[in-house]
Amino acid sequence: MSGRNHQGIGMTSQRTRDRLIRRLRQQGIQNDQVLDVMRRVPRHLFVDEALAHRAYEDTALPIGYGQTISQPFIVAHMTQLLLEDGNANSVLEIGTGCGYQTAVLAKLFPQVYSVERIEALYQQAKQRLAELELYNVQLRYTDGTEGWPNLSYRFDRIIMTAACTEIPEALIAQLNDGGIMVLPFDNGIDQTMTKITRGRNGLVYEALEKVAFVPLLPGLN
Ligand code: SAH
Repeated sequence: MSGRNHQGIGMTSQRTRDRLIRRLRQQGIQNDQVLDVMRRVPRHLFVDEALAHRAYEDTALPIGYGQTISQPFIVAHMTQLLLEDGNANSVLEIGTGCGYQTAVLAKLFPQVYSVERIEALYQQAKQRLAELELYNVQLRYTDGTEGWPNLSYRFDRIIMTAACTEIPEALIAQLNDGGIMVLPFDNGIDQTMTKITRGRNGLVYEALEKVAFVPLLPGLN
């Protein structure tokens, strides 16, 4: 990424970015904080240079290793869900990928933790986030089905950016009281965006829209 244009020109210009933001708003993203952050975070720096001209289309794009950067609408929607129900200090993300969602979270939450199971993606994301001077982010190369390693601390928010067929117990255990977790759940037929809230009377599950994510995989790569 070194030497690449942060400001953006042509298909990565502020005008092109603003068009994406208008589109997200039309599609139902109402949270101005989310829209403002997505206007500012340079998505084109998170994809290969050859794909930079498509970075402000509302579409997922390949990031190598069989993985994708999530569609902007999905990033906006998941982030908006995490901002519901009052103040949150810490967020754990499972699936750093290129680090774009991580960067968006870093502008909205005081402490962001993110884990990735593919070492090359972890390394790239680490470099990018450092270049963007996002110092409130901690990354780990680890299997996210185990949550953040060796920690008794619980997170106010958890976001999973890969689809699971079973909700990992370790993640439920690391969700704070009053906490919110959003994840794509795969029932074997299709995937549903799911919001889990840990309320006074236990966990509440809400099924939202149908989605398409890469699968949550076990182990390291
Ligand atoms: N938020 C990312 C999404 C990347 S796709 C972005 O916008 O770029 C999902 C990511 O989850 C992939 O990078 C994949 O390697 C990772 N992943 C899948 N299973 C995982 C696991 N068990 N632990 C950690 N990361 C995982």
